[in-house]
Amino acid sequence: MHEMSLMVSMLEIIEDQARQEGFRRVTRVTLEIGQMAGVDPEAMRFAFEAGTLDSVAEGAELIIEETLGRARCPACGLEAPVEVFYEPCAACGQAPQEIIAGRAMRIVSLDVD
Ligand SMILES: [Zn+2]
Repeated sequence: MHEMSLMVSMLEIIEDQARQEGFRRVTRVTLEIGQMAGVDPEAMRFAFEAGTLDSVAEGAELIIEETLGRARCPACGLEAPVEVFYEPCAACGQAPQEIIAGRAMRIVSLDVD
């Protein structure tokens, strides 16, 4: 389950921020997960609950915002939502398209004490 290793690196970022900014507890983590990032939000929730024990984020609420995939066609320039890689362009049939959104996972915000 690679969500667990993603969670470990995310927690390192949070712990670093806690050190730099001097907060002791995170009460809420808002996470953006691209629909095409290959991350399962439910597995991420599970990893969060297990991974945050004994950390600054123990007991924090996890908010997951899923962002839709979006592609731009290199041939005709059409931009459209996509759900899978290599989906052909709806206008001209070109594939693969350039994926321009929905591939990333990032921390949007932290609520802290
Ligand atoms: Zn096209």
